[in-house]
Amino acid sequence: MPELPDVEGFRRVLAAHAVGRPVRRVDVLDGGVLRGVAARRLSETVRGRRFGEPRRLGKWLVIPVGPGAMLLHFGMTGSLEWAEPGQDLHRHDRVVFAFSTGELRYRDMRKLQGLRLLESREEVHRVLADVGPDAAEVSRDRLRELLAGRRGRVKTALLDQSVMAGIGNLLGDEILWRARLHPSTSCARLGADDLAHLHKAMRAVLREAMKAGRVPPRRSWLTGHRDEPDGCCPRCGTALAHDRVGGRATVWCPACQPADGGG
Ligand SMILES: [Zn+2]
Repeated sequence: MPELPDVEGFRRVLAAHAVGRPVRRVDVLDGGVLRGVAARRLSETVRGRRFGEPRRLGKWLVIPVGPGAMLLHFGMTGSLEWAEPGQDLHRHDRVVFAFSTGELRYRDMRKLQGLRLLESREEVHRVLADVGPDAAEVSRDRLRELLAGRRGRVKTALLDQSVMAGIGNLLGDEILWRARLHPSTSCARLGADDLAHLHKAMRAVLREAMKAGRVPPRRSWLTGHRDEPDGCCPRCGTALAHDRVGGRATVWCPACQPADGGG
């Protein structure tokens, strides 16, 4: 599932290939990904225009075009791909933006989210009003403010896009493992040291993952072991625990991340 680092990767694809060049043609291959805009209006608005410098807000990609912007969300299975001229379409390519140098393709199997076209900056702000700050921009003090006074579990808060944007299931587990915090820890119980560890872990995991353009399944990371049937903690060798927390499949190390109250 695309999380902040994946969207950062898509942003780089767009910035490297498509920014500043006129869009020659827009092909909507599957209108099922269009949200609140008809294929014809999308095409008429974007054709001949140039995309401005794209901006990420958590799992959203904001692409300035004319006085407004195109907003992309990648749901569970979306991506943005650059294709050289003549390269075959993929069967899940839904919208294609053609340039003289190649094509930018919005690809998505499940079509849970999609593409919006907004007429003005105000409309962009309105649509994104409930989205919290991009997780990669959150300072330690800001993190404390965002989590202070919250009820519920720390994992649920980390994944709540209105608290902070961009963290999904893999990143959430990876960050908590790195910070040695049990995913069910109540936010109210987080002390100053816990918050400091959490922030440090979040910065480190995001920095590495953004470089890779995804949450990398490295052997030294929890993510590299979470799908193994007998996966062990790469830090201490204890068998990993699996359960659902806040409705999400969650993996943690029972030794490094003792339950709420135990550390
Ligand atoms: Zn461990």
